[in-house]
Amino acid sequence: MTTIPFFFQNTKSGKKEPFQPKDPNSVTIYSCGPTVYNFAHIGNIRSFLFVDVLRRALLLGGYKLNQSMNITDIDDKIIKESIKQNVSVEEFTKPWTDAFFKDLETLQVQKLEHYPKATESIDDMVTLVETLQSNGLAYERDGNVYFSIQKFNQYGELSKIDVSGMKSGVRYDADEYEKDDVRDFVLWKNQKTKEEKCWHTRIGMGRPGWHLECSAMIRKIYGTGIDIHTGGIDLLFPHHENEFAQSVGAYPEETFVGTWLHCEHLLVDGEKMSKSKGNFYTLRDILNKGFEPRAIRFHLISAHYRSKLNFSLGKLEESKVALDRIQNTIFRLLELNPSVDLNTNDWNQIHFTDPEIQTLDSDFLNAIADDLNVPKALATLYEFVRLVNQSLDQTKEKNADEFFKQCLGFFYKINSLFAVFSFEKQKETLDGISEDWILDQIANRKLAKQNKDFATADNIRKELEKIGILLTDTKEGNTTWKKAQ
Ligand code: AMP
Ligand code: ZN
Repeated sequence: MTTIPFFFQNTKSGKKEPFQPKDPNSVTIYSCGPTVYNFAHIGNIRSFLFVDVLRRALLLGGYKLNQSMNITDIDDKIIKESIKQNVSVEEFTKPWTDAFFKDLETLQVQKLEHYPKATESIDDMVTLVETLQSNGLAYERDGNVYFSIQKFNQYGELSKIDVSGMKSGVRYDADEYEKDDVRDFVLWKNQKTKEEKCWHTRIGMGRPGWHLECSAMIRKIYGTGIDIHTGGIDLLFPHHENEFAQSVGAYPEETFVGTWLHCEHLLVDGEKMSKSKGNFYTLRDILNKGFEPRAIRFHLISAHYRSKLNFSLGKLEESKVALDRIQNTIFRLLELNPSVDLNTNDWNQIHFTDPEIQTLDSDFLNAIADDLNVPKALATLYEFVRLVNQSLDQTKEKNADEFFKQCLGFFYKINSLFAVFSFEKQKETLDGISEDWILDQIANRKLAKQNKDFATADNIRKELEKIGILLTDTKEGNTTWKKAQ
């Protein structure tokens, strides 16, 4: 199969480079995933959607993928919370891990090949610490094992952090790190209190430091270095710098990562959205305000991944309106019943014969192959929507049936990247409200009730009432809806 040449802005070199995976039939990609101690906020979700866009873009480019995202299910916060709630680490993290996967499903994020958990990779982490010890890069103090950054002369190469002022032997053993603070970081922590989750291992009773898991999982899954490593820009230092030090320090003869990609932040009022600042929305918060998942997805992927995106409900509403307009064009097209073979996932194999669509198709692919330029791809999409609307208004001279069939095919191809359009004929319910949306609201209400968040559940019912939709809870625990008379 032929592949489209891609170009990526590699954080390591600071340059846009041609993408050269070791094997285009098995491109290896590792992405730093969530720490499962709470609902993800939509800033976190932006970084997970970026991974999905990367995946879908490479699939469109004809590549085959072998992708991973880790689940950090052990860290300081998790230990503290599980002790506070008097439950095991596993019991504490399970519902948050489930919520994470549910969010991804809601947002049409494709499943990756691997989701390794930190707690299931302890052996691999121990082996890595031993390798670093035998390479003379790690030392022990008070039962903790640290990485000695002075012994690793490539330290700082990835994040370009200045290590000249660094003090030798100053150690950092928490999972939360100050930005710009260059210190020896902890690889392995000994048990501090009896309640703390620990593992009995060859290097003692304890648990891994946060950075260790990603290096160890990459080794465990791929056996060697990988083509692409991604994460939010806040992870560049110290997390990725430390990962780089661990992996290159342990296996200096190998290339650890071909291309490093970093996604910019989602901001609120110019500040990074974060749990600690309290300026965040979870996906549920936004769904409860009545936004559909597809509008949220469309909004969060519409900016370039290397641009900051300032979030507001007003801007989300604008994306929703833009998306509805495109969707209306698709509904108009569907009314013509163009026959397209929908049983293909190989949209990269579809070739268009109409010259206008051919041009738009190559513009679209060139945009995403150019460091995932989604805004440029969107510009092509809008141009295409204009063309389809004009053609629908004028009835084209050329073979209209064939042309509209190709239009629908191209929408499908575009949707294999965006995953926000519906290809079912519009079901008429209430003015502009689809049944799917109502069912989503009912599902959100059910979830809120399960979480004992009765205020939200009540609010959803009242909001639906305001627009003339009445809910009835059945004895079996289901909910039905009807139009108010
Ligand atoms: P965490 O669950 O905190 O480990 O973060 C998961 C991912 O979300 C990481 O890749 C972070 O870099 C990313 N992230 C955290 N805050 C934001 C934000 N405001 N915008 C975009 N990505 C973020
Ligand atoms: Zn990581």
